[in-house]
Order: sequence, then C-alpha cells, then structure tokens
Amino acid sequence: MQQNYGQSSLEQALVNVMLFGPLFVTREMAGDKFPRRGTWERNRTMPDLDLEKLNEEFESKSATDVLRWTYDNFDHDRIKLSTSFGAEGIALIDILVNMGINPNIFTVDTGRLFQETYDVWAEVVEKYDVKIVSHSPDPEELRKLYEGGSPNLFYDSVENRKRCCYVRKVLPLKSALKDTDVWLSSLRRTQGDSRRDLPIISPSSQYDLYKIYPMANWLEQNVWTYIRANSVPYDKLYDQGFKTIGCAPCTRPVRMGESVRSGRWWWEETEEKECGIHIEDGVIMRTKPAKNYQI
Ligand code: SF4
Repeated sequence: MQQNYGQSSLEQALVNVMLFGPLFVTREMAGDKFPRRGTWERNRTMPDLDLEKLNEEFESKSATDVLRWTYDNFDHDRIKLSTSFGAEGIALIDILVNMGINPNIFTVDTGRLFQETYDVWAEVVEKYDVKIVSHSPDPEELRKLYEGGSPNLFYDSVENRKRCCYVRKVLPLKSALKDTDVWLSSLRRTQGDSRRDLPIISPSSQYDLYKIYPMANWLEQNVWTYIRANSVPYDKLYDQGFKTIGCAPCTRPVRMGESVRSGRWWWEETEEKECGIHIEDGVIMRTKPAKNYQI
C-alpha cells in the first residue's frame, strides 16, 4: 500500500469517513468511543465465558468495545499486551492509553532486531509515558543453540530456523506470559493465510490464558488510516516497503503482488510463515471462520 504521510488532519478525517464510515474516525471525532486518559473504571469480576457467543458478538464491535469488555471482565494486572512494534501493535497501545488504561506491555527483544525498531520503541515510551518490559533470550540457551555452529544457522534449514525462533522468541514469551489471564495481541486476519480464520477471543491451553485479538478484523488500510489520523509513531522501515517487521536477518521488504508474510523467511519453500509464538496444536487457534469483517 502506498502511504501518504503528508495529508492534513482535516483531509485525513474526510478520508476516514469516506473509507470506513463514522465507526472508523479519529479519537476526537469518535467521542465516547475513545474516552480520554483517566476515565477508566476498574472491575475485577471474572466471568464464565461462552466463547462462541462472544466471538459472534465481537464481530460487530469495534476494537475499543472489545478492549472495554476485556478490562471490565478481567483483573487489569493480569492482562498483558505484547508488542513487536509493528504498526498495528503501536496503534493498539495508542487506543489503550487514550481509553485511560495504563496497559502492562511487554516485548520480546530477540537481540536481532532492526535499529529502526529500537528507535520506534524509544519513541513509544516517550510519547505514551508507558513502561515496556523487555524479555530476552536466555544466554545459556543461546550458547547451546550456536554450539559449534553459525550465528546465521537459520538460513541452513527450516528446523534450524525454528530452533532459533524457539530460543529467541518462544522461550522468552513463555516467561513473559506467567501470571497472565489475558494476552492481548494485534494480529490481523489479513496478515496471511495462517491467520485468515483468527477468532477475536480464544483459549490457550499452552499458556493457560485467553488470547484476545481486538484488531483481528482490521484491514491494512484501517491500520494506516488510524496511524496517520492520530499521529501514531511507526517503524520507518514501512516507508521502505516492509509489510511486517521482525528480526533483521529474517525480514525483507515485500514486492508488488507478493503476500504480506512473504517478507519473512523468504528462502524457505514452506507456506507456513510463523515463528511459533501464536501456534496452538500446530495451528493458529481458531473457532470457526468469521462471517463479518467490520471495523
Ligand atoms: S526470526 Fe530469524 S533471527 Fe529471529 S528468532 Fe527467528 S530465526 Fe532467529
């Protein structure tokens, strides 16, 4: 998608209304859909969840509504938001902060990230005045991973790539998700075939929690419209043609006509472009295909 970062806020607001209707507008235009900082009331009750019914209901709700429900029904201290500083992840932080929530945010610093990712990480901390807990790979696990081998072993085989992802991403994630009831993440259905049927809420037996994806039904253009309209910081690699951003040696820009996930591990022939952190029983957890993709 060609970005245009030079639009005025009025132009952008008009574009938002034209593209998405009144449900997808700036925070200022949205009124109580985006309550300002400090207006949030806590409620610690834990409900019995009918996930099929909830997913049906959430399909017609905005991301803000889903987040409001989440913070109304779970202990705030046990809700954690993961971010890898992708565009949608930072938009999610923006939405939460402007709902008056001080979210528990964590990231997994694999040690192989782009400098641009560290730059936007710093920008987010400064702009939103939030703490972001960083989880890094265990040095002993790294030593075992590279024992007698190349630091670029992920290029050698899918198995080696998955070993590297396991040590650098999955193990730190497991540590980050201790004492958590809800894992908030900004995955979207149109980020690749493996994410096509993503439910908005699903259980995770692997991590013993609920995963909630409030932006599951957002399209790429919804994300960028939100970012432009609300001056949300973004990783400058997007301006160079990157569609998703992960570790530097394993991510490249995407060419015209290529799928979003083709910028990851492009040397592999397999269609499965996942690092393992969102996999349950071999697949991205799903309930049943969603019917409506509404913002
Ligand atoms: S994306 Fe690449 S460098 Fe990062 S953890 Fe996976 S294999 Fe290792």
